[in-house]
Amino acid sequence: MILLEGKPAAAAIKADLSKQVNALIQKKLRPPHLVAVLIGNNGASETYVASKIKNCEEIGFQSSLIRFETSVPEDILLQKLEELNNDDTVDGMLVQLPLPKHISEEKVINTITPEKDVDGFHPVNLGRLAQGAPTFIPATPYGIILLMQHYGIHAKGKHAVVIGRSNIVGRPISILLSSNQPYGNATVTICHSHTPNLKELSLQADILVAALGKPGFVTADMIKEGAVIIDVGITRVEDTSAKKGFRIKGDVNFDEAAAKASYITPVPGGVGLMTIAALLKNTVTAYLKRHNLSEAILSE
Ligand code: NAD
Repeated sequence: MILLEGKPAAAAIKADLSKQVNALIQKKLRPPHLVAVLIGNNGASETYVASKIKNCEEIGFQSSLIRFETSVPEDILLQKLEELNNDDTVDGMLVQLPLPKHISEEKVINTITPEKDVDGFHPVNLGRLAQGAPTFIPATPYGIILLMQHYGIHAKGKHAVVIGRSNIVGRPISILLSSNQPYGNATVTICHSHTPNLKELSLQADILVAALGKPGFVTADMIKEGAVIIDVGITRVEDTSAKKGFRIKGDVNFDEAAAKASYITPVPGGVGLMTIAALLKNTVTAYLKRHNLSEAILSE
């Protein structure tokens, strides 16, 4: 069994990005600028946003964090997003989810201009993804593809089973794995909360992607011998023996699955790290497009 560790894969991507930033600076161009918007002080969201900002700093991106109180009126938030849309110094922007109940996720996603939507959540970008056109691939599915590429795992001709159909993970990864692209060409089955024969399907998976948010859901009896297991789940589970009072658990029972899998992602330390690397790559793509620059400028 080979552990699909996110750290070396993300480090390789970040090293490339860092070189690209240096190439831009040598040409007297400014580095890419990512803006994160955080509403309230949800513990997990704080951690994710802090990590995004830290990663930007590490590779020489400019980054900004804009914070609002939980009670911020929806129109004030949308107005800020419009301002960022029109701010020429901003290349990519994201609003950390989840949002407080009084704010419409749909309105927020639709307000961010598709050109700066580095999370790839805007309907225009998701539509382009479905068409196989160039787009911002949502960061987590993109991170999964980058992780598979790093470890030389090919999806072509395989049966991939995806558990979960959310717009940010399950559905886009099922589209990518089935697409006619070098990283795709798998036959994909997508399962969800109304799938009656999930175990029967997961047992057929050469590649099993678990993205449902139920810790330890995938057990050994659901896994084919030699399968590639991609665990996307991140759930905080109370643990009084842990320093923070909780532990991060994936959707797969790791010890059971590791005994059968050919490759498996750890949680934490797997897909999560790749999500940020993918977001950074999307930010460079946004920067190049906005400045009408070709990729060649990054290596010249
Ligand atoms: P979601 O709640 O939006 O979607 C969950 C999906 O799982 C739904 O489509 C639902 O139909 C399906 N589901 C629920 N129970 C099921 C069951 N018993 N059997 C089959 N399908 C079932 O969740 P999401 O936003 O896609 O996130 C899924 C998990 O991935 C969460 O733990 C989340 O924290 C994690 N996540 C991780 C990253 C990362 O960077 N690693 C990024 C995004 C989400």
